[in-house]
Amino acid sequence: MTTAEPTSSAALPADLLAREMRGPRYTSYPTALAFDTRFGVADWCQAVRASARGGEALSLYVHIPFCASNCFYCGCNRVISRSRTRIRGYLESLLHEIEMQARLMQPPPEVLQLHLGGGTPNSLTTGELAVLLEALRNRFRFAPDERLECSMEVDPRLATVDDIDVWRELGFNRLSFGVQDVDAVVQTAINRRQSSDHLAELTAAARQAGFSSLNYDLVYGLPMQSPARFEATLDFVLAQRPDRVAAYHYAHLPARFPAQRAIDEQTLPNQTQRQWLRERIHQRLCQAGYVAIGLDHYALPGDELARAFAGGRLHRNFQGYSTLPDCELLGLGASAISRLGGCYAQNEATEQGYRLAVDTGHYPVARGYRLTDEDRLRAAVIESIMCRGEADFSELPSGRFAPELERLRALDPAQTWLECGPWGLRVSEAGRSLLRVVAMVFDAHLGRAEVPATRYSRLA
Ligand code: SF4
Repeated sequence: MTTAEPTSSAALPADLLAREMRGPRYTSYPTALAFDTRFGVADWCQAVRASARGGEALSLYVHIPFCASNCFYCGCNRVISRSRTRIRGYLESLLHEIEMQARLMQPPPEVLQLHLGGGTPNSLTTGELAVLLEALRNRFRFAPDERLECSMEVDPRLATVDDIDVWRELGFNRLSFGVQDVDAVVQTAINRRQSSDHLAELTAAARQAGFSSLNYDLVYGLPMQSPARFEATLDFVLAQRPDRVAAYHYAHLPARFPAQRAIDEQTLPNQTQRQWLRERIHQRLCQAGYVAIGLDHYALPGDELARAFAGGRLHRNFQGYSTLPDCELLGLGASAISRLGGCYAQNEATEQGYRLAVDTGHYPVARGYRLTDEDRLRAAVIESIMCRGEADFSELPSGRFAPELERLRALDPAQTWLECGPWGLRVSEAGRSLLRVVAMVFDAHLGRAEVPATRYSRLA
């Protein structure tokens, strides 16, 4: 396999490419950094009631924080523990929270989407997952299976072929496997050794069991990752041909994420190599027939995500790109974020804080944010940039984003990759590596708090 240099973003300014990799992923606007601890239980109850009265469909997210071992690159909210007692205790608390939130959410909206994230959702046994799903189905009004997206993030190291069949019987129809990199040297450097053969077996079993969509998560910018080594990961991915691929950029922030202190900084790819890896992922996946979806996501043309992208119906939420229109989101579990009733709210982040609140009958909300009309407008512009690479200002009062247009023109004075004017903006295919830089221009909260660096997490 050749490792010829990708060239499509070679003409983009290096300072903007570096800024892009430090930018927020905009799975929400404003980002979680704007959330405030003055947002309390009374605000939460008001938001949930307002949401239920609005009758919008609901998406459920459940956070399972446990992991069997410590991946050195990790920036997720997780707890390293294999203790069955501890995991079962957490499940008990989750059941309490489900009961409390469902009581508040009357009349119950229809649930169109359920996603289990972490941590490692499959650190729950199949029996424990059955208990969790039964509680959710009993307390919320789930859409019929043919309209329900039911997905889970999977650590292949803990999964068996038999688990796959049980998950399908429980109603899951989508799985997302954490692949990251298949090279043994890279896997050792990140403390995550896993077998590609086993992953291939799980993938085949999931297809056999009738899962409608399989996703592979990759991470680029990891220690010891070189362009030549990464080709093996891309070969493997293309041989398995998952319906979707998400390629996350690793940001090294050891002051914030202690696990990363085990990584030798000398072994990290430099900025040029990271950009190369990103371009190479893009090049090989597109050559193999995948459709590039917004930021670092790819899908086969028949996949629902690619169809939504082609039809201009793509949305962005905490799970990344989504085909669902503005669903309300209820997050359950430690650190889970909800977006409903015009507010964001985040649960207590620690396992202990979360369990203490729920087990003593309190809503575990720790902080939140009430969206203003200005936030909603900017959120719509940013979502449009992240999903379609464009924004339309034709319905807005004249001069509405004049200062932002000035800043956009300064990004690309010759308009080689970014066209803009009073009508709106359009990022060309050549500029797709800079979507976040463009979106940041519309972020009125940036600069009021520390700029959130990207980390490997769906919640970043
Ligand atoms: S990367 Fe995933 S499996 Fe590894 S420690 Fe983080 S959450 Fe757990």
